[in-house]
Amino acid sequence: MRWEGGRRSTNIEDRRGLGAGTIGAGGLGTVLLVLAVSCLTGTNPLALLQMVEENQPAQTQSVPTGAPTNDPAAEFVSVVLGDTEETWNRIFASAGREYREPVLVLFEGAVRSACGSASSASGPFYCPADQKVYLDLSFFRELDRRFGAPGDFAAAYVIAHEVGHHVQNVLGINREVNQAQQGSNRAGANALSVQLELQADCLAGVWGHHANRKQLLDQGDVEEGLAAAAAIGDDRLTGGRASPESFTHGTSEQRARWLRQGLQTGDFNSCDTFRNTTY
Ligand SMILES: [Zn+2]
Repeated sequence: MRWEGGRRSTNIEDRRGLGAGTIGAGGLGTVLLVLAVSCLTGTNPLALLQMVEENQPAQTQSVPTGAPTNDPAAEFVSVVLGDTEETWNRIFASAGREYREPVLVLFEGAVRSACGSASSASGPFYCPADQKVYLDLSFFRELDRRFGAPGDFAAAYVIAHEVGHHVQNVLGINREVNQAQQGSNRAGANALSVQLELQADCLAGVWGHHANRKQLLDQGDVEEGLAAAAAIGDDRLTGGRASPESFTHGTSEQRARWLRQGLQTGDFNSCDTFRNTTY
């Protein structure tokens, strides 16, 4: 990707080095039930959310200030986030709607969000309640080493996927899905989750399409993103041991296909994974 010199988002909240403060209370406090966290991979965020003591002081919230200088990884994140802002502002405006830009929180180890506390093990996630994307930069190393999906566009896809969940939130889509899940059995709720996740993949592709038109992508970037989407498919993550009814994010084939769909069309309307019965 040709990201150097791009406009940096100022919506970066750098909480690295602050610590989560409330992690590891170990059964003393009240469990915050979190139903609305969307992660990147099939790991159940509920299983990874920590016990949080109700009366502990909230983690110090820093004001979004943008990425620190002389920190290439953070600068990369802020340029990609800035480009998603530009793209989604324009797409929303052309549809006569207003886009609210999300804040991206950089953290290390563990973090507290309005959806509860999470450790880095849960991977990047989006919390609809505070409209923030949470990202530990170490996930990009994991993407390379554990998932075999290196490269800057693979990392950009991760950010764009979480921003895709924010787009769904602004449009009220994940609220509708959450409500539909309440009335569903487990298999039905999982199927809805897959549709929501595949749509976030497609929305990441929509961003990628517009980034490509601005000539931000290099040769091989699209393949890099598709490989990353395939690497975190439920079937591959579970090594074929789990039944499709238990999938929450979609198979490798589905994830790569919906990312490609967004990349090719650049059109939000082509991302209706809910109406498309053959998702
Ligand atoms: Zn997701």
